[in-house]
Amino acid sequence: MSPIDILIVGAGPAGCAAAYDLAEAGVQVLLLDRRSFPRHKACACGLTRKTLKALRYSVDPIVEHACEEIVLEAAAGDSAKLRLRDSKPIAAMAVRERFDAFCLEQTLAAGKNGGGVTFRRIDSIAALRETGDGIELDVLTGDDRETLRAGVLIGADGSNGQTRRLAAQLEAGRTEAVVTQPSEAAWYERGFALEATAPYAVLPAALPEGDGPKDLLFDFSPLPGGYGWLFPKGDHINIGVGAFAPGDGVAASKDAALKQVTRKLLADYTQRKLGVDLVQAGGPVTGQYLGMGGHAYAPRGRVLLVGDAAGLVDPLTGEGIHSAVVSGQAAAAAVLSTRAQGFAGIAESYAKKLTPLQETLAFSERAARSFYREPERGFRVMRTPMVGWLALKTYTDGLPVRFLRPMVRLAAWRSK
Ligand SMILES: Cc1cc2nc3c(=O)[nH]c(=O)nc-3n(C[C@H](O)[C@H](O)[C@H](O)COP(=O)(O)OP(=O)(O)OC[C@H]3O[C@@H](n4cnc5c(N)ncnc54)[C@H](O)[C@@H]3O)c2cc1C
Repeated sequence: MSPIDILIVGAGPAGCAAAYDLAEAGVQVLLLDRRSFPRHKACACGLTRKTLKALRYSVDPIVEHACEEIVLEAAAGDSAKLRLRDSKPIAAMAVRERFDAFCLEQTLAAGKNGGGVTFRRIDSIAALRETGDGIELDVLTGDDRETLRAGVLIGADGSNGQTRRLAAQLEAGRTEAVVTQPSEAAWYERGFALEATAPYAVLPAALPEGDGPKDLLFDFSPLPGGYGWLFPKGDHINIGVGAFAPGDGVAASKDAALKQVTRKLLADYTQRKLGVDLVQAGGPVTGQYLGMGGHAYAPRGRVLLVGDAAGLVDPLTGEGIHSAVVSGQAAAAAVLSTRAQGFAGIAESYAKKLTPLQETLAFSERAARSFYREPERGFRVMRTPMVGWLALKTYTDGLPVRFLRPMVRLAAWRSK
């Protein structure tokens, strides 16, 4: 094997989670990203308990505060409000730029038994080939084009990344996949979300009506097939709108659903919820696609997709950091369990380790189709104490599908 065992493209939560576990198990990793860190990434950075549990290290140093209650709104007005509470904090609030920089720092410090992570900034990737015993990746930096070789490539380059598209070309039988060839994996779907921040200092009231300093607000009134949110941080509030639902039932097409998420929608929502306009709010408005459809992703060959690149965002909640971490760790585990055999069977090994997450996401997909068609009905169902509690547990701790199925049966019965 070459001095670099594993190549990872993308140093977000998915890439870092994979790199961390590999380094700790004695593997040499080259971690590539087209951005230097710290870097901005559009994200409300709500970290649920299951995310905090999955991470290999505490992120306390960058947590701004803990949220204790979820407020769900189906339409304007208190009667359509649902509050879900637990005895322990539901999610930690962080600023994404600081969260990612912290995770990368932990990852670069990881390494035992000769393992370690080297970070390198590149401009882009250009081409990918699978050889008999590994992969070759052509990368561009400035005027230089270089071929990097490794046993396995982990594609962690997010929703807009290239590794998924390159893997789709290899799967279609090409010997060399190139970024200039337009392609997309058949199973892949997208959501889209826009976010902005408003310092508490510019708000007319200390806190927006109906939201508290320790609440997470999900508001299903601004658009069909998605929600608006208010996630309070230390000195500002993160406000956003996003479309997540699978593309049928709520809009003529998935593209039509995504096109609803405009700067104007966010501006109107910010005005309504916070009483300020986006310009007053001061921060930049940023948006990004979210990778979905990954419950149907089947890994092949020596390219393992993780996180948003693998479409693993939850279509019901829009949460993606948990899946990114868990899938990154699953890819690392697949590398470790097959490296003694020269990575023979690595795709099958990864597929097996990814199955529990994919089952949960497939369940979420079905739930999202039903919920977003008629959120008010979902609210009625969640008012049943047991169902409300299970919904909260599923969001914050994650429950295996075998526990979720009875919940759906109960929900169907209740909504009749
Ligand atoms: C507005 C918004 C709000 C969100 N809020 C939440 C939330 O509150 N909680 C939550 O859990 N999830 C949230 N998500 C989803 C979450 O942001 C993603 O699921 C998560 O970031 C996925 O992590 P990742 O590591 O797979 O990809 P990313 O975090 O996108 O990281 C990918 C990395 O790859 C790099 N990259 C891309 N292309 C290339 C290339 N060609 N070459 C080299 N490097 C490349 C990028 O620079 C980036 O660093 C939100 C998403 C959006 C858009």
